[in-house]
Amino acid sequence: MDFEMDIPREARFILETLEHAGYEAYLVGGCVRDALLGRKANDFDITTSALPGQVKELFWRTFDTGIKHGTVTVLVNDKPFEVTTYRIDGTYRDNRHPDGVTFTSSLEEDLKRRDFTVNAFAYNPKTGLVDYFDGLRDLREKRIRAVGNPERRFEEDALRILRAVRFCAQLGFALDEETRAACGKEAFRLANVSAERIRDELEKMLLSPDPEILILCHDLGLTTYILPELDTMLETKQENPYHFLDVGRHSLLAVKNAPMDPLLRWSLLLHDSGKPVVKSFDEKGIAHFYRHEEKSARIAQKVLQRLRLPKKFVSKAALLILRHGDVFPPTEKSVRREIAKIGVENFPLLLEIQKADSSAQSELARKDHLERIEKVRQVFEEIQKKDKCFSLKDLAVNGDDLIAMGIPSGREIGKILDAMFKYVLDHPEENKKDILLSELDSFR
Ligand code: ATP
Ligand code: MG
Repeated sequence: MDFEMDIPREARFILETLEHAGYEAYLVGGCVRDALLGRKANDFDITTSALPGQVKELFWRTFDTGIKHGTVTVLVNDKPFEVTTYRIDGTYRDNRHPDGVTFTSSLEEDLKRRDFTVNAFAYNPKTGLVDYFDGLRDLREKRIRAVGNPERRFEEDALRILRAVRFCAQLGFALDEETRAACGKEAFRLANVSAERIRDELEKMLLSPDPEILILCHDLGLTTYILPELDTMLETKQENPYHFLDVGRHSLLAVKNAPMDPLLRWSLLLHDSGKPVVKSFDEKGIAHFYRHEEKSARIAQKVLQRLRLPKKFVSKAALLILRHGDVFPPTEKSVRREIAKIGVENFPLLLEIQKADSSAQSELARKDHLERIEKVRQVFEEIQKKDKCFSLKDLAVNGDDLIAMGIPSGREIGKILDAMFKYVLDHPEENKKDILLSELDSFR
């Protein structure tokens, strides 16, 4: 096949330097796949017959990234490139790195250890494209197929099961039949994969153009091991006129409707996770989910902690979920009240969540919801233009001012500041030190 890859100057320099010294060197993996697909690559990885020590001798600036596994990072023009020695992997007992690797002088051996045929291309300008496993055909037919026997490959490293699904979501591909069957059969091994690796794959699915791929994860029996909460959601019908999808499908459609931001997308994934627990029926047989926001926030916190998302991220997501059902009119007063509850920095995120959520509901109230959200957004913009009294720290009076006025106890100071804050929310034009202090007695 006639294929000429557009290579960054720095990567070309590394390939040429290695070849000049008598070694083989190729671009490999994702960057070749992405070039063939006409997509922008994340990073340009290089594979070479040179041993790590030999790579380090050839370049000025290198550091040992995973030297035991043969990877050296080479810096050229301050840009990093991972250069890895051809290798054969041992098993992955820790589910992170192979226990032992053996270096080899055979490119084919190195490509054999790679997970999928479309990830097992190599390329350099002299040789052109190397494709030992019919990756081109799979690329053309939009298929993710394991290199070699899929069951063996998933047994070696169960994360590959999630990678297979994730690449489908990112590339718009489907699983090859045999690979798909092996995903289901070996799913139980996901129980041994670290939470961090699972989180990273889930996040890539959530941030892909097709987050509904998580339904496939459920169908294959993967979520039982990594996100059982989603199984319950997918099995919970909503049975009321505001919804046309079950809780799980509704949530995933909401994810898809949202901007590609991790906080928004994780929050939307879990925003209704409490619905299965609080579901009840009225005498007409219509389902209700009273106070599901609180339950969902708690479940989300548990799930996100389990998946080792950062603490701050978890608490922000929980807050957004807790508040996702707040319906308030587009008036300055009520918008200020909501801002006081959620924090000014989170307010635009709340609106994004409400917008994505409403867009995934039935048509019954969708239009009204979206109109309200848009009006609220305009009110919020007006408020922002006008003034800045959103949190206690923006109040024109602080504790020191009150101490200076002779208020002795901390408790009383707190009470007064709180009362002033509430007042100022409704009367922003009066957020001035002299005004507030002159009315001190009315806040006691
Ligand atoms: P991305 O666009 O997400 O970076 P990628 O294909 O470059 O996709 P990486 O995780 O960066 O994926 O890995 C680079 C290459 O290393 C892959 O293309 C694949 O050949 C190989 N690889 C990565 N992880 C595994 C794994 N768990 N098992 C087998 N091969 C793997
Ligand atoms: Mg990559």
